[in-house]
Amino acid sequence: MGNENQPEKILKDVELFLKQQAELFGDETFLPAAVDDGDSRESTAVVGNSQQIQSKEIKGESHPENTEADLKQKPKTVRVTEDRGLFEGTVLNPEWKIDPHWYESDSLGTLDSRISGCKKCQLGTTRKNFVFGVGNPNSKLVLIGEAPGADEDEQGEPFVGRAGQLLNKILAAVQLRREDVYICNIIKCRPPNNRDPLPDEVEACEPFLKKQLEIIRPKLILCLGRIAGQTLLKTNVTLTEMRNNIYEYQGIKVMVTFHPAALLRNPNWKRPAWEDVQKMRKLYDEM
Ligand code: SF4
Repeated sequence: MGNENQPEKILKDVELFLKQQAELFGDETFLPAAVDDGDSRESTAVVGNSQQIQSKEIKGESHPENTEADLKQKPKTVRVTEDRGLFEGTVLNPEWKIDPHWYESDSLGTLDSRISGCKKCQLGTTRKNFVFGVGNPNSKLVLIGEAPGADEDEQGEPFVGRAGQLLNKILAAVQLRREDVYICNIIKCRPPNNRDPLPDEVEACEPFLKKQLEIIRPKLILCLGRIAGQTLLKTNVTLTEMRNNIYEYQGIKVMVTFHPAALLRNPNWKRPAWEDVQKMRKLYDEM
């Protein structure tokens, strides 16, 4: 009963999978890694305090303190209100053009309108457009890049242009649409010539990201690129090490993978990126 359509459905699923693979990776097809084959050296995470990020590696042996249960463990919900002093203690300089009530915003739209004229750091004077963020305000997944690039600065939206199109395809490959997730950057204005954000720019802008996360309350963050991961997690470890771990930021689990622009530059990174997003999807489904 009802099985007569099954082969047709399987064929359709295979066809869709291959189409997404072809769009993402050209002629190469990547299949999910075998699960728990005993030989794998799959690295996973330890969720810890955001101030004390730790990492451990699972090497196919039994690590009772570091099993699948860790991944399923509900993140400790530490709301950003712990950092209220960070916002409330700040005396706003009128020249920063920030609404003094910005921290009381209870929706992304209100927050956006209260900070979009911001000139708290030098990037406020060189940007074309303030790039707040886009997507589902109730999403359990937030994607975070480091900063807007030229296309984003032009359009006022994060991850547009070729890298943005690739990001949309990557999301589609794990059955997510751009509008299902929330996408933003650590800093909201483009650094000139796409240089890395400076520490004082990150420090000036990060409270806005924290407030966005407080409003959205996601369960999972996927950092796109080394700089985004290092900046958010306040670490200098390599992208490889960050990719092999799950961290925590403000009580939210954090994974790190390649920036889509890096994948456009180096196709060899598409395979590990594909493995990352599959891991991310698995964690997302468990939340
Ligand atoms: S980067 Fe952030 S802190 Fe700097 S001007 Fe833009 S919004 Fe303000």
